[in-house]
Amino acid sequence: MFKINDNYQKLPGSYLFSTIAKKVSAYSAANPDKQIIRLGIGDVTQPIAPAIIDAMHKAVDEMGHAETFHGYAPDLGYDFLRNAIVANDYKARGCDISADEVFVSDGAKSDSGNIQEIFAQDNKIAVCDPVYPVYVDSNVMAGRTGTYDADTQMWSDVIYMPCTSDNNFVPELPKETPDVIYLCLPNNPTGTTITKSQLQEWVDYANKVGAVIIYDAAYEAYISEDDVAHSIYECEGAKTCAIELRSFSKNAGFTGVRLGFTVVPKELKCGDVSLNAMWARRHGTKFNGAPYIVQRAGEAVYSDAGKAQLKEQVGYYMKNAKAIKEGLTKAGYTVFGGVNAPYIWLKTPDQMSSWDFFDYLLENANVVGTPGSGFGPSGEGYFRLTAFGTYENTLAAMERIQTL
Ligand code: PLP
Repeated sequence: MFKINDNYQKLPGSYLFSTIAKKVSAYSAANPDKQIIRLGIGDVTQPIAPAIIDAMHKAVDEMGHAETFHGYAPDLGYDFLRNAIVANDYKARGCDISADEVFVSDGAKSDSGNIQEIFAQDNKIAVCDPVYPVYVDSNVMAGRTGTYDADTQMWSDVIYMPCTSDNNFVPELPKETPDVIYLCLPNNPTGTTITKSQLQEWVDYANKVGAVIIYDAAYEAYISEDDVAHSIYECEGAKTCAIELRSFSKNAGFTGVRLGFTVVPKELKCGDVSLNAMWARRHGTKFNGAPYIVQRAGEAVYSDAGKAQLKEQVGYYMKNAKAIKEGLTKAGYTVFGGVNAPYIWLKTPDQMSSWDFFDYLLENANVVGTPGSGFGPSGEGYFRLTAFGTYENTLAAMERIQTL
């Protein structure tokens, strides 16, 4: 009889978004006259920018003619896209990254889940708490996390780095030495980030202890403050200790188009073994390339027109973020984030649990957000609102919350 990967049995159910959906539909069914405003899910709402649509149309037409048809894409990405990434995301910021260190993929979720495959089973991972759940869950599936304690919502073999208002959401260097450190900055869900000099401390630490940093910069486009690094490679020595994950989902609205990339520098080695070569082998074996049409769309993100249109789009969402931040502050809430990220993280009032506050907001303001406890134990007592809605809905939600 075959055997299954038992590690999957250890995964606690991922009830967060399904519980939210169930609660919202039950409320809607009981109160059909109420207009619900959804500021919960991290999906974008603005359409793909015209410069990108034009590039996609052109690529679609190319696919219809034998002379310009494209079959399998190169496993690691087309040069036109890898070169555009290097020029704009790295060289322009003074980072010495070359095209053969860039691996084009279908998005940061796949890469953030898959990257753990190239590390040994007995490596110890460290994660910020709260954080995007994929890092922990993908390591659970790989059997790297020990046993789960339902009371504390923690795994025995994971190092948790609490990020709360007590430490201003800046993860502290762990007491126990990790092998693989996941940093998601700017952070989902807290919407907070750290300065370049604070990030430099992490790079120095990783180099000192021989750890690797998996740096998820999916929200890089939302950084507005000058002292925040857009790439970990802006830090001295990062090429010997860090892998960077990027996404086109939040800067260009590609959540339904699907495109991302991972940077694995050639200097990143374990002894003599190059992680760049390992990831090239893994990617080439298990991934058959992002679609040509989508990679052309990605290239257009870096065109002059694309850049201008996306700056406006990110600006639109950040105007929402500002409205949420100001609206909640006016209503007496303590709020964090929303300056370098499209997420606002608020402290629930009167020591309410995250879920109690979810119910309270749904029932009294008909506004849907995300309970902080769904992102890790240190998220309890917090709540996430996203800036990805329309401006009108965002303002309406704030008015409702203010009149509570
Ligand atoms: N990383 C973080 C921190 C995210 O919040 C998300 C999506 O919400 C992703 C990665 C997934 O990005 P992609 O759409 O490129 O798979």
